[in-house]
Amino acid sequence: MDSRRLAYLQALDIDVWERRDAAARAPVSQAVIPQPVIPQVDTSPAPALAREPATAAPAIAAQATPAVEADAGAVAKMGWDELATAIRSCTKCPLHATRTNGVFGVGDRRARWLVIGEAPGMDEDRQGEPFVGRAGQLLNSMLKGIGLAREQVFIANILKSRPPNNRDPKPEEVRACIPYLHRQIELIDPTLILCVGRIAAQTLLNVETPIGKLRGVVHRIVNNRPMVVTYHPAYLLRSPVEKRKSWADLLLAMRTFEALQGGAA
Ligand code: URA
Repeated sequence: MDSRRLAYLQALDIDVWERRDAAARAPVSQAVIPQPVIPQVDTSPAPALAREPATAAPAIAAQATPAVEADAGAVAKMGWDELATAIRSCTKCPLHATRTNGVFGVGDRRARWLVIGEAPGMDEDRQGEPFVGRAGQLLNSMLKGIGLAREQVFIANILKSRPPNNRDPKPEEVRACIPYLHRQIELIDPTLILCVGRIAAQTLLNVETPIGKLRGVVHRIVNNRPMVVTYHPAYLLRSPVEKRKSWADLLLAMRTFEALQGGAA
């Protein structure tokens, strides 16, 4: 096995090598490594990569009231500093009353990779930074697995304020908050979006499809930007057996990125 791949798997703490059946006792180099479905990536300006129907703007936006739409229009013109201030002082949904910090996002504002999660948890709410708890540690390892330091990507969430007790975001909260993320996507203009978790994936794709069926293909969101879906690191902490699939997703993401970059990592 190549040492780079071994390092990836170690970084992810993947235990797929410990299968007890005879076939899997073969040398590590012959062990089963989940192979992702690699799309034929077309690097021309508007390729259609997804094998599932491409998604238009989320219906969340379509359901927005005129006030929300007007507000989204204002957000869509903001620069970084204005956006950060708006997020940190936002009162557009009731979550502002219970949060400690509006969590803007972290990382390189010119990153080629954008990671999108669901919403801040307790640690993130306290520190004002996404993915700093245990799930964040695993996310860092996942990124390391594909050769990326946390500082090299930008990490953001669908919701910028913590829902009490980490409950799922409500549709009206998403409607109020999603313009911030859309603006972040436009400002960063990433080569690839890595979406972690069911909630983020279903929200961005405007579907209720189980996450297991959203994996393995390259989707297009927000002005045709490529996005790969994988499991949320918090879920992987609860279900480590799924790390194998997540590893396949990361390989898909990495190879898609490399193809879009014309072969450069
Ligand atoms: N889970 C998320 O989806 N985002 C965070 O920032 C932390 C945990």
